[in-house]
Amino acid sequence: MIRCMEQEKEFLTDLDNAIADGDHGINMARGFCAVEQKIADFGSKDIGTVLKTAGMTLVSAVGGSAGPLYGTAFMKSGMIMNGKNEMNISDFIECIKVSVEGIMQRGKAVRGEKTMLDAMIPSLEAMEKAFSDGLSDKEIIEHGVEAAKNGVEFTKTIAATKGRASYIGERSIGHQDPGATSYTFLLDVVANAL
Ligand code: ADP
Ligand code: MG
Repeated sequence: MIRCMEQEKEFLTDLDNAIADGDHGINMARGFCAVEQKIADFGSKDIGTVLKTAGMTLVSAVGGSAGPLYGTAFMKSGMIMNGKNEMNISDFIECIKVSVEGIMQRGKAVRGEKTMLDAMIPSLEAMEKAFSDGLSDKEIIEHGVEAAKNGVEFTKTIAATKGRASYIGERSIGHQDPGATSYTFLLDVVANAL
């Protein structure tokens, strides 16, 4: 994820530039770079501690909305992974579920407002379905990535009603949401790692 955010820095920033203040890639790269500085301390810590530390680091290292929102996602995930040293696929899906809930609460946003939630919610639903259909772990996450990509496409068709892109309202139609895009990249990293 750290490498990916570094690589996509310019692309995500260009997307944000088209509809808002052009810092999403910079924010994500800065946040994940700060997480990288903490890796040495992670050592043998449990997954909960690692995720909570990553979340707190994202919140403190990144200004703007995405840092606190992604930070919330990692912190909420960390809470349910408390004391665990292994993560199975249902833990992973549960992490995405609490992340969606945390982001909705913190950002006061719902589906259809042209935010990261428009990739996250469909991907969560697709992974829950793939899980109950008995697909493999990798297939489950690949279904999640596919749904997230469709969610990103959907964000092109709607006007932003949350975040800085809402300042230009209808003029944001035609552009994909940067946060929905970064989420899709991050989930794709997980699929490829499997
Ligand atoms: P900022 O908007 O403060 O410049 P970023 O550019 O890093 O922060 O992040 C913008 C992204 O954050 C948007 O593309 C959108 O996906 C997401 N976002 C903004 N506001 C909200 C919100 N209230 N709820 C959910 N996601 C949001
Ligand atoms: Mg921005």
